[in-house]
Amino acid sequence: MMSSVPGPDKKTKLMVYTIEECPVCGQKTKPAFAVGDYVTKDGAKCTKCGNQTKITLIYAEGSKPSG
Ligand SMILES: [Zn+2]
Repeated sequence: MMSSVPGPDKKTKLMVYTIEECPVCGQKTKPAFAVGDYVTKDGAKCTKCGNQTKITLIYAEGSKPSG
């Protein structure tokens, strides 16, 4: 289902990020959120040690206009 989510301010564009954390070495990566991502889901392979990362957080961040 595709529904538009009302933002707090139409002038501020929100970017949604997914935080993937490696349980072995603790490395965190912050790729852009992809549809279907959810906390505890398996993320990409750790770029440092090659282990499976887990999504630990999904959050939105306002991108600043021209600056
Ligand atoms: Zn790792």
